Amino acid sequence: MYPRVEIDLKKLRHNIDEIVARCRELHIEVAGVVKGFTGIPECTKQFDDSNCRFIATSRLEQVEDAKKYGITKEFMLIRVPMITEAADAIRLTDISLHSEIEVLKAFNEQALKQKKKHGIILMADLGDLREGFWDTEEMISAALMVENSFEGLELSGVGTNLGCYGSVSATPRKLEELVRIAECIESRIGRKLEFISGGATTSLPRVFENNMPERINLLRVGEGIILAKDLRDLWGYDMSFMYQDVFTLKAEVIEVKDKPTHPVGEIMFDAFGMKQEYEDRGIRRRALLAMGKVDYAFPDMIYPRDKGIQVLGASSDHTIVDIQDTERDIKVGDIMEFDLCYATIVYVTNSPNVKITFAN
Ligand SMILES: *Cc1c(COP(=O)(O)O)cnc(C)c1O
Repeated sequence: MYPRVEIDLKKLRHNIDEIVARCRELHIEVAGVVKGFTGIPECTKQFDDSNCRFIATSRLEQVEDAKKYGITKEFMLIRVPMITEAADAIRLTDISLHSEIEVLKAFNEQALKQKKKHGIILMADLGDLREGFWDTEEMISAALMVENSFEGLELSGVGTNLGCYGSVSATPRKLEELVRIAECIESRIGRKLEFISGGATTSLPRVFENNMPERINLLRVGEGIILAKDLRDLWGYDMSFMYQDVFTLKAEVIEVKDKPTHPVGEIMFDAFGMKQEYEDRGIRRRALLAMGKVDYAFPDMIYPRDKGIQVLGASSDHTIVDIQDTERDIKVGDIMEFDLCYATIVYVTNSPNVKITFAN
Protein backbone atom coordinates (compact mmCIF):
# COMPACT_ATOMS: atom_id res chain seq x y z
CA MET A 1 0.00 0.00 0.00
CA TYR A 2 2.97 2.38 0.55
CA PRO A 3 4.45 4.61 -0.61
CA ARG A 4 1.43 6.14 -2.22
CA VAL A 5 0.16 9.45 -3.44
CA GLU A 6 -3.37 10.29 -2.44
CA ILE A 7 -5.18 12.70 -4.72
CA ASP A 8 -8.20 14.72 -3.65
CA LEU A 9 -10.25 15.02 -6.83
CA LYS A 10 -12.78 17.45 -5.31
CA LYS A 11 -9.99 19.84 -4.35
CA LEU A 12 -8.49 19.50 -7.82
CA ARG A 13 -11.84 20.33 -9.40
CA HIS A 14 -12.19 23.34 -7.09
CA ASN A 15 -8.79 24.62 -8.24
CA ILE A 16 -9.65 24.13 -11.91
CA ASP A 17 -12.94 26.02 -11.50
CA GLU A 18 -11.31 28.91 -9.61
CA ILE A 19 -8.66 29.55 -12.25
CA VAL A 20 -10.96 29.01 -15.23
CA ALA A 21 -13.54 31.41 -13.76
CA ARG A 22 -10.97 34.13 -13.11
CA CYS A 23 -9.62 33.81 -16.64
CA ARG A 24 -13.04 33.71 -18.27
CA GLU A 25 -14.03 36.92 -16.54
CA LEU A 26 -11.33 38.52 -18.69
CA HIS A 27 -12.43 36.56 -21.80
CA ILE A 28 -9.42 34.27 -21.55
CA GLU A 29 -9.84 30.57 -22.27
CA VAL A 30 -7.81 27.97 -20.39
CA ALA A 31 -6.02 24.93 -21.75
CA GLY A 32 -5.73 22.71 -18.66
CA VAL A 33 -2.24 21.19 -18.64
CA VAL A 34 -2.16 17.65 -17.26
CA LYS A 35 1.51 16.68 -17.77
CA GLY A 36 2.36 17.76 -14.20
CA PHE A 37 0.57 14.69 -12.80
CA THR A 38 1.46 12.42 -15.72
CA GLY A 39 -2.06 12.68 -17.10
CA ILE A 40 -3.63 10.33 -14.54
CA PRO A 41 -7.03 9.79 -16.24
CA GLU A 42 -9.13 10.27 -13.06
CA CYS A 43 -7.51 13.69 -12.64
CA THR A 44 -7.73 14.56 -16.32
CA LYS A 45 -11.46 13.77 -16.09
CA GLN A 46 -11.83 16.70 -13.70
CA PHE A 47 -10.60 18.99 -16.49
CA ASP A 48 -12.91 17.26 -18.96
CA ASP A 49 -15.91 18.05 -16.72
CA SER A 50 -14.84 21.69 -16.23
CA ASN A 51 -15.15 24.79 -18.39
CA CYS A 52 -11.60 24.70 -19.67
CA ARG A 53 -11.35 24.95 -23.45
CA PHE A 54 -8.70 22.29 -24.10
CA ILE A 55 -6.88 19.53 -22.27
CA ALA A 56 -3.18 19.98 -22.91
CA THR A 57 -0.10 17.85 -22.45
CA SER A 58 3.38 17.31 -23.82
CA ARG A 59 3.02 13.52 -24.11
CA LEU A 60 0.81 11.66 -26.56
CA GLU A 61 0.75 8.57 -24.31
CA GLN A 62 -1.25 10.62 -21.81
CA VAL A 63 -3.75 11.63 -24.51
CA GLU A 64 -4.12 7.99 -25.52
CA ASP A 65 -4.82 7.01 -21.88
CA ALA A 66 -7.33 9.83 -21.48
CA LYS A 67 -9.22 8.85 -24.62
CA LYS A 68 -9.35 5.21 -23.53
CA TYR A 69 -10.79 6.44 -20.23
CA GLY A 70 -13.56 8.21 -22.14
CA ILE A 71 -12.42 11.80 -22.06
CA THR A 72 -13.90 13.76 -24.95
CA LYS A 73 -12.66 17.36 -24.70
CA GLU A 74 -10.36 18.66 -27.46
CA PHE A 75 -6.69 17.87 -26.87
CA MET A 76 -3.76 20.22 -27.36
CA LEU A 77 -0.20 18.98 -27.81
CA ILE A 78 2.01 21.58 -26.11
CA ARG A 79 5.51 20.28 -26.71
CA VAL A 80 6.52 21.27 -30.22
CA PRO A 81 6.26 17.85 -31.84
CA MET A 82 8.81 15.32 -32.94
CA ILE A 83 8.44 14.89 -36.69
CA THR A 84 8.22 11.15 -36.03
CA GLU A 85 5.05 11.57 -33.96
CA ALA A 86 3.12 13.45 -36.66
CA ALA A 87 0.78 10.54 -37.42
CA ASP A 88 -0.07 9.91 -33.76
CA ALA A 89 -0.40 13.61 -33.01
CA ILE A 90 -2.93 14.04 -35.80
CA ARG A 91 -4.78 10.91 -34.70
CA LEU A 92 -4.92 11.87 -31.02
CA THR A 93 -5.00 15.66 -30.78
CA ASP A 94 -6.92 18.54 -32.30
CA ILE A 95 -4.43 21.37 -32.04
CA SER A 96 -0.68 21.69 -31.45
CA LEU A 97 2.14 24.19 -30.96
CA HIS A 98 4.76 24.58 -33.70
CA SER A 99 8.07 26.18 -34.59
CA GLU A 100 9.37 24.20 -37.59
CA ILE A 101 8.10 24.31 -41.18
CA GLU A 102 9.34 20.75 -41.86
CA VAL A 103 7.15 19.46 -39.04
CA LEU A 104 4.18 21.48 -40.28
CA LYS A 105 4.58 19.83 -43.68
CA ALA A 106 4.55 16.39 -42.06
CA PHE A 107 1.48 17.35 -40.03
CA ASN A 108 -0.29 18.54 -43.18
CA GLU A 109 0.43 15.29 -44.99
CA GLN A 110 -0.86 13.25 -42.07
CA ALA A 111 -3.96 15.41 -41.65
CA LEU A 112 -4.82 14.96 -45.33
CA LYS A 113 -4.16 11.22 -45.10
CA GLN A 114 -6.37 10.87 -42.00
CA LYS A 115 -8.96 13.27 -43.44
CA LYS A 116 -8.72 15.63 -40.47
CA LYS A 117 -8.36 19.36 -40.00
CA HIS A 118 -5.71 20.04 -37.35
CA GLY A 119 -5.32 23.36 -35.56
CA ILE A 120 -1.94 25.08 -35.50
CA ILE A 121 -0.58 27.57 -33.00
CA LEU A 122 2.73 29.05 -34.12
CA MET A 123 5.08 29.76 -31.24
CA ALA A 124 7.10 32.96 -30.99
CA ASP A 125 10.23 32.95 -28.83
CA LEU A 126 10.15 36.31 -27.08
CA GLY A 127 13.42 35.77 -25.24
CA ASP A 128 12.91 32.82 -22.91
CA LEU A 129 14.94 30.79 -25.44
CA ARG A 130 13.13 27.47 -25.39
CA GLU A 131 10.77 26.75 -28.30
CA GLY A 132 9.48 29.18 -30.89
CA PHE A 133 10.40 31.19 -33.97
CA TRP A 134 13.12 33.71 -33.23
CA ASP A 135 12.93 35.35 -36.62
CA THR A 136 9.54 37.05 -37.10
CA GLU A 137 9.86 36.94 -40.91
CA GLU A 138 10.31 33.18 -40.75
CA MET A 139 7.25 32.93 -38.50
CA ILE A 140 5.16 35.03 -40.89
CA SER A 141 6.15 32.88 -43.85
CA ALA A 142 5.22 29.74 -41.86
CA ALA A 143 1.86 31.37 -41.10
CA LEU A 144 1.28 32.15 -44.78
CA MET A 145 2.19 28.59 -45.73
CA VAL A 146 -0.25 27.10 -43.21
CA GLU A 147 -2.95 29.55 -44.24
CA ASN A 148 -2.58 29.26 -48.01
CA SER A 149 -0.90 25.97 -48.86
CA PHE A 150 -1.63 23.40 -46.18
CA GLU A 151 -5.20 22.15 -46.72
CA GLY A 152 -5.05 19.77 -43.77
CA LEU A 153 -4.14 22.49 -41.31
CA GLU A 154 -5.96 25.44 -39.84
CA LEU A 155 -3.97 28.42 -38.59
CA SER A 156 -5.61 28.79 -35.17
CA GLY A 157 -3.29 31.38 -33.70
CA VAL A 158 0.02 32.27 -32.17
CA GLY A 159 1.51 31.68 -28.75
CA THR A 160 4.55 32.06 -26.59
CA ASN A 161 6.14 30.46 -23.57
CA LEU A 162 7.91 32.43 -20.84
CA GLY A 163 9.59 31.70 -17.53
CA CYS A 164 10.69 28.16 -18.34
CA TYR A 165 14.32 28.22 -19.50
CA GLY A 166 15.28 31.87 -19.55
CA SER A 167 13.26 32.88 -16.46
CA VAL A 168 11.79 35.78 -18.47
CA SER A 169 8.77 37.43 -16.81
CA ALA A 170 5.43 37.65 -18.65
CA THR A 171 5.12 41.41 -18.27
CA PRO A 172 2.34 43.30 -20.07
CA ARG A 173 5.03 44.70 -22.39
CA LYS A 174 6.39 41.25 -23.23
CA LEU A 175 2.93 39.98 -24.05
CA GLU A 176 2.22 43.07 -26.18
CA GLU A 177 5.10 41.87 -28.38
CA LEU A 178 3.12 38.69 -29.05
CA VAL A 179 -0.02 40.69 -29.87
CA ARG A 180 2.01 42.78 -32.34
CA ILE A 181 3.26 39.63 -34.07
CA ALA A 182 -0.31 38.30 -34.20
CA GLU A 183 -1.61 41.52 -35.73
CA CYS A 184 1.18 41.50 -38.26
CA ILE A 185 0.16 37.98 -39.33
CA GLU A 186 -3.50 39.00 -39.35
CA SER A 187 -2.80 41.86 -41.72
CA ARG A 188 -1.01 39.45 -44.08
CA ILE A 189 -3.72 36.75 -44.07
CA GLY A 190 -6.60 39.23 -44.01
CA ARG A 191 -8.49 37.79 -41.05
CA LYS A 192 -8.40 37.63 -37.28
CA LEU A 193 -6.68 34.73 -35.52
CA GLU A 194 -8.83 32.74 -33.12
CA PHE A 195 -6.21 32.37 -30.36
CA ILE A 196 -3.38 34.44 -28.98
CA SER A 197 -1.92 32.22 -26.28
CA GLY A 198 0.06 34.27 -23.80
CA GLY A 199 1.84 31.59 -21.85
CA ALA A 200 1.43 29.36 -18.81
CA THR A 201 1.11 29.73 -15.03
CA THR A 202 3.75 32.46 -15.17
CA SER A 203 1.22 34.62 -17.05
CA LEU A 204 -1.51 34.26 -14.39
CA PRO A 205 -0.27 37.36 -12.53
CA ARG A 206 -1.62 39.36 -15.51
CA VAL A 207 -5.05 37.89 -14.76
CA PHE A 208 -4.84 38.57 -11.01
CA GLU A 209 -3.67 42.12 -11.62
CA ASN A 210 -6.11 42.64 -14.47
CA ASN A 211 -3.40 43.96 -16.79
CA MET A 212 -3.41 41.33 -19.52
CA PRO A 213 -3.09 42.86 -22.98
CA GLU A 214 -6.59 42.97 -24.52
CA ARG A 215 -6.12 40.41 -27.21
CA ILE A 216 -4.48 37.61 -25.23
CA ASN A 217 -7.32 35.08 -25.01
CA LEU A 218 -5.78 31.71 -24.16
CA LEU A 219 -3.48 30.50 -21.38
CA ARG A 220 -2.09 27.00 -20.90
CA VAL A 221 -2.12 26.39 -17.15
CA GLY A 222 -0.74 23.43 -15.19
CA GLU A 223 1.09 24.26 -11.96
CA GLY A 224 -1.16 27.20 -11.14
CA ILE A 225 -4.14 24.84 -11.07
CA ILE A 226 -2.81 21.62 -9.58
CA LEU A 227 -0.68 23.29 -6.90
CA ALA A 228 -0.67 27.10 -7.05
CA LYS A 229 2.47 27.02 -4.93
CA ASP A 230 4.85 29.01 -7.13
CA LEU A 231 2.39 31.90 -7.34
CA ARG A 232 2.23 31.95 -3.54
CA ASP A 233 5.83 31.21 -2.57
CA LEU A 234 7.80 32.77 -5.43
CA TRP A 235 5.49 35.58 -6.55
CA GLY A 236 3.86 36.44 -3.23
CA TYR A 237 0.22 36.27 -4.37
CA ASP A 238 -2.51 35.40 -1.91
CA MET A 239 -3.53 31.96 -3.18
CA SER A 240 -5.69 31.08 -0.18
CA PHE A 241 -8.65 30.53 -2.52
CA MET A 242 -6.80 27.48 -3.88
CA TYR A 243 -5.95 24.12 -2.29
CA GLN A 244 -2.20 23.49 -2.13
CA ASP A 245 -2.80 19.97 -0.80
CA VAL A 246 -4.50 18.20 -3.71
CA PHE A 247 -1.61 15.70 -3.65
CA THR A 248 -0.41 13.94 -0.47
CA LEU A 249 2.56 11.60 -0.43
CA LYS A 250 2.32 8.90 2.25
CA ALA A 251 5.14 6.66 3.41
CA GLU A 252 5.60 4.06 6.13
CA VAL A 253 8.06 4.28 9.02
CA ILE A 254 10.39 1.25 9.11
CA GLU A 255 12.80 2.28 11.90
CA VAL A 256 12.76 4.74 14.81
CA LYS A 257 15.94 5.27 16.83
CA ASP A 258 18.10 7.81 18.62
CA LYS A 259 21.30 8.18 16.59
CA PRO A 260 24.15 10.66 16.15
CA THR A 261 23.53 13.40 13.59
CA HIS A 262 27.11 13.26 12.32
CA PRO A 263 28.27 10.06 10.57
CA VAL A 264 30.81 8.03 12.53
CA GLY A 265 33.94 7.12 10.54
CA GLU A 266 35.90 8.42 7.57
CA ILE A 267 33.55 10.50 5.34
CA MET A 268 33.68 9.55 1.65
CA PHE A 269 30.73 9.68 -0.81
CA ASP A 270 27.00 9.00 -0.44
CA ALA A 271 24.90 6.45 -2.40
CA PHE A 272 24.82 8.76 -5.42
CA GLY A 273 28.55 9.49 -5.44
CA MET A 274 28.12 12.95 -3.90
CA LYS A 275 30.20 14.69 -1.21
CA GLN A 276 27.79 15.67 1.57
CA GLU A 277 28.00 17.98 4.58
CA TYR A 278 26.61 16.79 7.92
CA GLU A 279 25.84 19.15 10.79
CA ASP A 280 26.66 17.72 14.21
CA ARG A 281 23.64 18.31 16.48
CA GLY A 282 24.42 15.49 18.89
CA ILE A 283 22.14 12.49 19.41
CA ARG A 284 18.63 12.99 18.03
CA ARG A 285 15.53 10.89 17.40
CA ARG A 286 15.02 9.99 13.76
CA ALA A 287 12.80 7.82 11.63
CA LEU A 288 13.55 5.85 8.51
CA LEU A 289 10.88 5.71 5.78
CA ALA A 290 10.33 3.10 3.10
CA MET A 291 10.64 5.40 0.10
CA GLY A 292 13.55 7.17 -1.53
CA LYS A 293 14.95 9.20 -4.40
CA VAL A 294 13.75 6.60 -6.88
CA ASP A 295 10.21 7.66 -5.97
CA TYR A 296 10.43 11.45 -5.76
CA ALA A 297 14.00 12.40 -6.90
CA PHE A 298 14.46 15.45 -4.65
CA PRO A 299 14.51 14.95 -0.83
CA ASP A 300 14.49 18.71 -0.26
CA MET A 301 11.25 19.04 -2.22
CA ILE A 302 8.99 16.87 -0.09
CA TYR A 303 7.50 18.72 2.88
CA PRO A 304 6.39 16.90 6.05
CA ARG A 305 2.84 17.84 7.08
CA ASP A 306 3.67 17.44 10.78
CA LYS A 307 5.38 20.42 12.39
CA GLY A 308 8.84 19.70 13.78
CA ILE A 309 9.72 16.98 11.27
CA GLN A 310 12.69 17.60 8.99
CA VAL A 311 13.89 15.60 6.00
CA LEU A 312 17.60 14.94 6.54
CA GLY A 313 18.38 13.04 3.36
CA ALA A 314 17.70 10.00 1.26
CA SER A 315 19.17 7.20 -0.78
CA SER A 316 17.38 5.27 -3.55
CA ASP A 317 14.87 3.51 -1.31
CA HIS A 318 15.21 5.14 2.13
CA THR A 319 14.34 8.55 3.52
CA ILE A 320 15.76 9.76 6.84
CA VAL A 321 13.76 12.29 8.86
CA ASP A 322 14.51 14.07 12.13
CA ILE A 323 11.55 13.65 14.51
CA GLN A 324 13.15 14.95 17.72
CA ASP A 325 11.02 18.10 17.84
CA THR A 326 7.64 16.72 16.83
CA GLU A 327 4.92 16.34 19.45
CA ARG A 328 3.57 13.17 17.84
CA ASP A 329 4.87 9.87 19.18
CA ILE A 330 6.08 8.22 15.98
CA LYS A 331 6.37 4.43 15.89
CA VAL A 332 7.37 1.76 13.40
CA GLY A 333 4.41 1.12 11.07
CA ASP A 334 3.13 4.70 11.31
CA ILE A 335 2.33 6.61 8.13
CA MET A 336 3.97 9.96 7.52
CA GLU A 337 2.41 12.53 5.16
CA PHE A 338 4.15 14.99 2.86
CA ASP A 339 3.16 17.93 0.68
CA LEU A 340 4.77 17.99 -2.74
CA CYS A 341 5.89 20.55 -5.28
CA TYR A 342 5.56 20.48 -9.05
CA ALA A 343 8.85 18.61 -9.57
CA THR A 344 8.08 15.90 -7.01
CA ILE A 345 4.46 15.46 -8.19
CA VAL A 346 5.84 14.67 -11.65
CA TYR A 347 8.15 12.02 -10.18
CA VAL A 348 5.75 10.31 -7.77
CA THR A 349 3.03 10.08 -10.41
CA ASN A 350 5.57 8.58 -12.85
CA SER A 351 7.00 6.01 -10.45
CA PRO A 352 5.60 2.48 -10.77
CA ASN A 353 6.57 2.01 -7.10
CA VAL A 354 4.20 4.70 -5.87
CA LYS A 355 0.55 3.65 -5.74
CA ILE A 356 -2.10 6.16 -6.67
CA THR A 357 -5.28 6.46 -4.65
CA PHE A 358 -8.12 8.99 -4.51
CA ALA A 359 -9.55 10.72 -1.50
CA ASN A 360 -12.93 11.24 -3.16
C1 LIG B 1 4.30 22.80 -19.41
C2 LIG B 1 3.80 23.81 -20.35
C3 LIG B 1 2.76 24.65 -19.96
C4 LIG B 1 2.17 24.65 -18.58
O1 LIG B 1 3.09 25.14 -17.65
P1 LIG B 1 2.70 25.45 -16.15
O2 LIG B 1 3.84 26.22 -15.63
O3 LIG B 1 2.55 24.14 -15.47
O4 LIG B 1 1.44 26.22 -16.15
C5 LIG B 1 2.29 25.56 -20.89
N1 LIG B 1 2.81 25.62 -22.13
C6 LIG B 1 3.83 24.84 -22.53
C7 LIG B 1 4.36 24.99 -23.90
C8 LIG B 1 4.37 23.91 -21.65
O5 LIG B 1 5.37 23.13 -22.05
